[in-house]
Amino acid sequence: MDWLTHLVWHDGKCLGVDGNFWTVFWKGIGWLGNAVFFSRFFVQWQATERKRQVVVPVLFWWLSLAGSLLLLSYAVFYNKDYVVIFAYAFTWIPYIRNLMIHHRHEERHLACPGCGTSCPPQSNFCSSCGTRLTASGEKAP
Ligand SMILES: [Zn+2]
Repeated sequence: MDWLTHLVWHDGKCLGVDGNFWTVFWKGIGWLGNAVFFSRFFVQWQATERKRQVVVPVLFWWLSLAGSLLLLSYAVFYNKDYVVIFAYAFTWIPYIRNLMIHHRHEERHLACPGCGTSCPPQSNFCSSCGTRLTASGEKAP
C-alpha cells in the first residue's frame, strides 16, 4: 500500500494540492470534473441493467458535457498540458449534438388523449392504456 500512500501524499501535497488558493481552486475543478465524468458510467450501467438492454440515458450526455467542460477548463487554465487539452477540446461537440437530437425526439412524442402518457413518435397505441394514437394527438375514431 506504499504506492497508494505515495499517490495520495507526495512532496507534502495531498492529491497534488498545496496550500495556494488557485492550486486548491483548480485542483478542485479538476477533481470535480473527474467525479462528474466518471459518474456517467454508473448512470449508463444502472439504466442498462434496469432495462436489460444497452441504453444511454440523457443524463449520461449531460454528465459527459459537464465533466468534459470542467476538465477542459482545468487543462486550459491550470494544467496547460496540450495532451489533456486536446483530449477534451472537441468532445463537447457529439455531447451537444446528442442532447439536441434527444430534445427533438422528445418534442415529437405524442401525448395520449386517454391518459396523458407521453408516447414515442410513430406510436400507434398508448403503451399505458392502449388508446389508439394519431399524429395530431387527438383521440382516433
Ligand atoms: Zn394512454
